[in-house]
Amino acid sequence: MKKEIQISLLPEQVFLEEELLKSVSLFLKLEKERINHIEIIKRSIDARRTPINYQLKAHVYVDEDFTEVENTFNYQNVENSSDFVVIIGSGPAGLFAALQALEFGVKPIIFERGKDVRTRRKDLAILNKKGVVNPESNYCFGEGGAGTYSDGKLYTRSKKRGNVKRVLEALVYHGADKNILVDAHPHIGTNKLPQLIASIREQIISCGGEIHFDSKMTDIAIESGKVKGIVINDNLNVSCEKLILATGHSARDIYFLLDKKGIKQEYKSFAMGVRVEHSQILIDKLQYKCNGVRGEYLPPASYSLVEQTEDRGVYSFCMCPGGVIAPCATSEGEVVTNGWSPSKRNNPFSNSGIVTEVRWDDISEFHSYGPLAGVYFQKRVEEKCWEIAGQGQKVPAQRMIDFVEGVKSEDLPKTSYYPGITSVQLSDVLPKFITKALKEGFKAFKSKMKGYYTNEAVLHAVESRTSSPVRIPRDKESFEHVEVKGLYPIGEGAGYAGGIVSAAIDGQRCIEVIVNGKALD
Ligand SMILES: Cc1cc2nc3c(=O)[nH]c(=O)nc-3n(C[C@H](O)[C@H](O)[C@H](O)COP(=O)(O)OP(=O)(O)OC[C@H]3O[C@@H](n4cnc5c(N)ncnc54)[C@H](O)[C@@H]3O)c2cc1C
Repeated sequence: MKKEIQISLLPEQVFLEEELLKSVSLFLKLEKERINHIEIIKRSIDARRTPINYQLKAHVYVDEDFTEVENTFNYQNVENSSDFVVIIGSGPAGLFAALQALEFGVKPIIFERGKDVRTRRKDLAILNKKGVVNPESNYCFGEGGAGTYSDGKLYTRSKKRGNVKRVLEALVYHGADKNILVDAHPHIGTNKLPQLIASIREQIISCGGEIHFDSKMTDIAIESGKVKGIVINDNLNVSCEKLILATGHSARDIYFLLDKKGIKQEYKSFAMGVRVEHSQILIDKLQYKCNGVRGEYLPPASYSLVEQTEDRGVYSFCMCPGGVIAPCATSEGEVVTNGWSPSKRNNPFSNSGIVTEVRWDDISEFHSYGPLAGVYFQKRVEEKCWEIAGQGQKVPAQRMIDFVEGVKSEDLPKTSYYPGITSVQLSDVLPKFITKALKEGFKAFKSKMKGYYTNEAVLHAVESRTSSPVRIPRDKESFEHVEVKGLYPIGEGAGYAGGIVSAAIDGQRCIEVIVNGKALD
């Protein structure tokens, strides 16, 4: 018989097999010998009380054998399929669109401006060590998209639970740890993501799909309101009638191209702020109420903060426990921060974006750019940060209390940001409404998480690529651009997703719509 249980356990009772068996048999008042298997369905940490507990949902197989069901995917050979889609961008949206296409027997042809994961790594090393940005190969561009060298947090607010499960199962099928299927806040880690992405690529190619690297889409041919083809690297014409645009939120040249061609785009509000770094020991102390030693079976603690200030929300974004702050610019002359962490999250720092909303009314100076106002605003702040910090990949930085009190930091501690930091008054580079909101936010966080507000924490600027500042509008049902037939804007760059899982889901759904006329929920 299979019994479903919900049980609260200490960390060691969850991770030590013998302890788990003992606890479950006590809970069910059964002899251990009768339990053949404990299948964990959901696992989450409850850090509200001490000692910290895990909440576990599990299926217990009592007097019954357990047979593991491996998830399989019906990836078909599409080598000779006449039905094909062209996908621009190999981020989560593009790759999952391609995988879904294979399941429907449709041939995916991907064009990616950047390089394969391995070669891309060399450009990241140059970026970190020499501060040189390759505009085609960086933390945002290249195989796997912005998700490849990220934290790989797979948490999403998406309500489409069936779709989330399918994405996670596909990741496990391509090599991710099975724990992502049960953890409430699953993550993969930067060190594991590249192999996984390479495995997805091999899947696509072995089924007869195509992936072309160093292949930037530079133009789109449109006739009578329909897509007819594209141009790659200014010299290769490719005919196609179904064009999936999955280029992410950092491909500004795509927004400029669409603007030039008169293809409708809209302003979309987004968020901007700074990336804050504390020591991980401090965050563990605050969250786990421990003396800084969290124990073997608890992961580095994370946090989530939000405060409604006078006129806008201030919140934590993409928090990376045990992580590193990364230089995420996509062009020379700008600096941008974001964060990543390895699978073990074992770096001594913890970082998070602390950001606030940028609304249309906030950027009146940029309204002449129409729907691209947010892009130009974002660019201006990134350029100012580059200028003030030394015209390389160093970022402007300030200690937290110094920022709130308007004092330039006399010195700065070592942080994880490899290219280096320069002490400045961040109010000199951040727009006034952002400075004001962040100051109020940090002051409020003082009481929300006692100990968080400290001059040991360093703010790095600017966290500007939180989501797309543009929406490429599409029809709700057909996923096609509202004015151009055959153009399917998807993922984060189109303004329809935020984060790895939601971009992947958007990619899958787009193919479902193309093939079936509607997405399966
Ligand atoms: C450092 C970092 C850490 C992050 N951490 C997380 C995290 O932990 N969890 C999470 O959910 N999200 C995280 N994100 C965000 C996440 O990576 C994105 O939300 C997600 O990758 C968006 O997917 P996408 O497919 O829509 O676009 P992208 O991943 O941006 O992919 C777009 C792709 O299109 C390519 N491209 C662009 N223009 C062209 C062109 N003209 N021709 C051909 N190819 C083109 C790009 O090279 C890129 O590969 C992180 C991002 C960064 C940068």
